[in-house]
Amino acid sequence: MSECILEGRGLTRRYRRPDGRTLTACHRVGLQLFPGETLGVVGESGCGKSTLVRMLAQLERPDEGELLFRGEEITGLKGEALRRYRPHVQMVFQDPAGAFFPRMRVWDAVTEPLRNFQPLSRAQRREQAARLLERVELPADFLDRYPHSMSGGQRQRLGIARALALEPEVLLCDEATSALDVSTQAQLVELLVSLQKKQNLSILFVCHDLALVQSLSHRMIVMYLGTVVESLPSAHLAADALHPYTRALLEAVFSLHTPPDKAVAPLSGEVPSPIHRPRGCPFHTRCPHCMEHCAQEEPPTISVAPGHTVACHLYSGTSRSEGE
Ligand code: ADP
Ligand code: MG
Repeated sequence: MSECILEGRGLTRRYRRPDGRTLTACHRVGLQLFPGETLGVVGESGCGKSTLVRMLAQLERPDEGELLFRGEEITGLKGEALRRYRPHVQMVFQDPAGAFFPRMRVWDAVTEPLRNFQPLSRAQRREQAARLLERVELPADFLDRYPHSMSGGQRQRLGIARALALEPEVLLCDEATSALDVSTQAQLVELLVSLQKKQNLSILFVCHDLALVQSLSHRMIVMYLGTVVESLPSAHLAADALHPYTRALLEAVFSLHTPPDKAVAPLSGEVPSPIHRPRGCPFHTRCPHCMEHCAQEEPPTISVAPGHTVACHLYSGTSRSEGE
């Protein structure tokens, strides 16, 4: 396989709450992103997706774990080294309306990231802005508009254009299409796919919508309560998924299309609080297959097929790990 472009190993992030308790947003998350691929990250709200993205973008530091870019450790870069890293990995945010200064015109907003890296004249920046608009299929006469006068889908195109301004190798899209209606969402996804093909971009596409993630990603990771419970190729998700949580997500998505006589087992219970992460497997409190030691021992992440890993005692061979 080609060289991994961005890699997280054992990324853990805890937040101290005002009441003194500690919340674990990400717990030993590992992922690899390869050139030209889309890696989907799926999981319910609050499972740590955005925290993971912020660590990958170096907006936040992991408490534990390592981050590698093209095989070189970049955890905790500072100053000039961090500044040099920034152009390689850019983010597209969820809320297109909140992502721009309201008084900046489109040409200024879209080329804002260039200010820190290239000394360009106003005319040169406008030229760059026109090129960027073209790449995201927005008309050139938008240059002098204000972002708030555009539709949600157009503003999100602008968000993508701004993220592309520094010619990144990696785009981190955190719920980038989630605020949009379904047809606008589909057009943006098409745009991302076409940009990826043209530029060999690597995309991390984070979304709570399993069907959408599956439709556009090559591989995906499934998160639950701050951990990666399964990672696998997206193409055969329904056939290959093993983890009881992934299976439950699939049932919830596709139950509309399954025959009425097929029993669907919806997940029972609530997601535990990340302040009180359960001992053992994070999913054991809701798992229909929970065994005695699932409540005691964290399941190891094991490889079950090429590109397919799962963290579940059902598949861990002896079903016994060394624990912590
Ligand atoms: P997701 O993006 O999957 O919805 P997040 O990464 O936003 O999840 O949040 C994971 C957990 O971390 C949540 O319980 C959230 O409340 C908590 N969290 C996220 N950011 C902070 C923060 N800056 N301070 C305290 N808690 C946070
Ligand atoms: Mg989020």
